[in-house]
Amino acid sequence: MTDSYAVIGNPIEQSKSPFIHIAFAQVTGQDIHYTKLLAPVGGFAGEVDAFRARGGRGMNVTAPFKLDAFAYATDQAPSAQMAGAVNAMKFEGDKVYAENFDGVGLVRDLVHNLACPLKGRRVLILGAGGATRGALLPLLAEQPAELVIVNRTVAKAQALEALALQHQTGLVPVQGLGYDAVQGAFDVVLNATSSSLKAELPPLNPSVFAPDCLAYDLTYGKGLTPFLQLAQRAGVTRLADGVGMLAEQAAEAFAWWRGVRPDTAAVIAQLTVPLV
Ligand code: NDP
Repeated sequence: MTDSYAVIGNPIEQSKSPFIHIAFAQVTGQDIHYTKLLAPVGGFAGEVDAFRARGGRGMNVTAPFKLDAFAYATDQAPSAQMAGAVNAMKFEGDKVYAENFDGVGLVRDLVHNLACPLKGRRVLILGAGGATRGALLPLLAEQPAELVIVNRTVAKAQALEALALQHQTGLVPVQGLGYDAVQGAFDVVLNATSSSLKAELPPLNPSVFAPDCLAYDLTYGKGLTPFLQLAQRAGVTRLADGVGMLAEQAAEAFAWWRGVRPDTAAVIAQLTVPLV
């Protein structure tokens, strides 16, 4: 019997998840059906209930429902608890298992696809929203020399500093700062703000980019964003966007559902928008 999966969001038309999961199913020989579900804001639970009643086995969750999914789930994995948000669910009887694979997807893209080890490196992450929160523990698990979180609203960066220090088991120094307090140059600079969706530039001093730095924008499909342009003008040659993160978090969900992890290279190649 064909198993049903879906991605739920509002809007949902832009979602690449059906393309990605159908490609994964083809290369791994899995018999699945995967659709997009548009839920009205405030109507998340009703849509998910109906999908489960039709035999649905799992879902990806995108904006604005990641918090609704957290509340809906019966069993939140530590990744979801740390992020305070859910991006994948698995349905088994009355149980709704919930995960957040965004952080692990980001780290896998950095370390595996882009061959950028984080151990012993200075890492700067811009933004203190859901993406940064979900990435904290996976980033710290790589044992960088230091993790600095910088945000326009400084109190949110400070809150994430406290959260990271409370949860990490290692001894990585973590700081949450405003943009004007950032000092020194970093080996990896991650733009986890939503600025690139609006073609805006965070108020970042270009001196943060070390000469052989990787500048990585979590936003994908926008080409050379203002953040990546700033890095390029500062002399950075290693530039990347979040298409690999998107594919890797999807591969984690697929493996969790189906027990087989697909290779992501072909999907990343097909979804990549050149950085020009
Ligand atoms: P949130 O809405 O939770 O947080 C947005 C953050 O961006 C806040 O810290 C906000 O600062 C900051 N921000 C917004 N505009 C600006 C600006 N012009 N200058 C400086 N800071 C700004 O978003 P998420 O954390 O969920 O997502 C962040 C980005 O990551 C999005 O672009 C999203 O598309 C991308 N993403 C990519 C994924 C992938 O698979 N590649 C997965 C998940 C997210 P303040 O607090 O001061 O308002």
